[in-house]
Amino acid sequence: MSSIKPKTIPAMPCITKRDQITPYITLDGSKIRELIHPTLHGNQAQSLAEASLPPGGRTQLHRHHRSEEIYHVLVGEGMMQWGEAHFPIGPGDSICIPPGTAHALENTGNTPLRLLCCCSPAYAHDDTELLS
Ligand code: MN
Repeated sequence: MSSIKPKTIPAMPCITKRDQITPYITLDGSKIRELIHPTLHGNQAQSLAEASLPPGGRTQLHRHHRSEEIYHVLVGEGMMQWGEAHFPIGPGDSICIPPGTAHALENTGNTPLRLLCCCSPAYAHDDTELLS
């Protein structure tokens, strides 16, 4: 049973359209589209974003103190740094990044690397510590 209970059932379904969302460059250097985020959409316990890295692009090594983050790769090829580990990632891969774990991602392919990023609790800049 969930400990998170909505105060009221929303009157309208929460649905967003990826292609209508303006991207921004986040702290770690990736291009982000916030698909669902509490500050924008009124949900409670998590955030879902799409990240895009150009060929040769690399995110800055960072960690989140509160959020557990899950990556799910949509398209492209990359090399993941996860703590002391380094491993390749590709379409269909899901990676769980526990709070406190340093992580970074490099696009090692010739096409944009696109992935979904889910944070619980929701992503917050002040929860993100840059490490390099
Ligand atoms: Mn992160």
